[in-house]
Amino acid sequence: MCGIVGYLGKNNSKKILLEGLRELEYRGYDSAGITILQNNKFKIFKAVGKLTNLIEKSKNFDINGFSVGIGHTRWATHGKPTENNAHPNQGELTHIVHNGIIENYQELKKNLLKKGYKFSSQTDTEVIVHLFEYYFNESNDAQVSFDKTITRLEGAYSILLITKSQLEKIYFMKHGSPMAIAKGDNDDEVFFASSDAPLIGLAKNVVYLEDGVSG
Ligand code: GLU
Repeated sequence: MCGIVGYLGKNNSKKILLEGLRELEYRGYDSAGITILQNNKFKIFKAVGKLTNLIEKSKNFDINGFSVGIGHTRWATHGKPTENNAHPNQGELTHIVHNGIIENYQELKKNLLKKGYKFSSQTDTEVIVHLFEYYFNESNDAQVSFDKTITRLEGAYSILLITKSQLEKIYFMKHGSPMAIAKGDNDDEVFFASSDAPLIGLAKNVVYLEDGVSG
C-alpha cells in the first residue's frame, strides 16, 4: 500500500509534502516523488529507494507563495520500481499520483496509443493522465475531463491530479483505496492524505472520503 499526499495553499508545499510522505513511510514503498505547480510551471522530483533520496534531490528547490502539490510513495504493481515509473506520472499539462490498480488499463492504453498518445512509463497509472488530456483536448474543460476520465476506470484506486489547465485545484477521486481531505488553519488551505498521520497538527475538519467521492 502506497501513500498519497496533496496540498493547496500559501504555505511551503515542498516541506508539507515531504513531511507528509515521511508520516506515510510505515505503509511501505519502493520509490517516491513530488510535483509542485506554481505560476504555470511544474517542478517534479522522483527517486528510487528511501525518502532521504528524494529529499536530497529536491534540497536546492525553494518555494514561496501559493502552489498546488501532490506527493507519492509507490509500491509497484505494474512496472518495475524505477525512477521513470515512480509517481507523479506525467502528461503534457497534467501530473498524477495514484494508489491502487487500474484493472482495465491495457484496453485504455491500446486505445490511447491508437490516438497517438505516447507512454513514458510501464505503469497502469499513466493511462489516467493521457485519458484526462484526451478529454481535455475535446472539451477544454478540466472538470468535465476529470469526471469523464473517472467513469472509464475500473479497479480499486485513489488519485490526485493537478493540471496547467486549472492552476488552483487538486482533482481527487477515491474508489477502494483510502483518502482523507482536510482544511488548514485558514480556509483557503486544503490537505489530502491516505491516512490522518500527515494531517495531525496541520489540518482541521479531517474527512475520510467514502468510495465514489470525487471533486
Ligand atoms: N499501480 C500503480 C503502480 O504500479 C500504483 C501502485 C501503488 O499503489 O503504489 O505504479
